[in-house]
Amino acid sequence: MKHKTYHIHCAKCNQYVLTYHKKGAGKGILRLYLANIFEPKELTNLHRSNFQRVNDVPNLTCPACEEVLGVPALSKGQKWVFRMRQGYFHRKLKK
Ligand SMILES: [Zn+2]
Repeated sequence: MKHKTYHIHCAKCNQYVLTYHKKGAGKGILRLYLANIFEPKELTNLHRSNFQRVNDVPNLTCPACEEVLGVPALSKGQKWVFRMRQGYFHRKLKK
């Protein structure tokens, strides 16, 4: 399946947070699927953690300033996502 690659940065301190493979149409990133995080390893490993409850999943935070960029939720398809806080992150399309 085709995807676009985005680099996600913290809007507050501009720290690089993760690389994301976004599938499907739509420009915004409202829900970030854990399974589609490409880097870094600490975050790609989350997908393999077999979380049972939403309280088990950590928030997505900036590694530098610890701002919360996204909070965990289950998608309609029963997949773990981060519901992204709009305005708290920047996305840059990798070309
Ligand atoms: Zn930050």
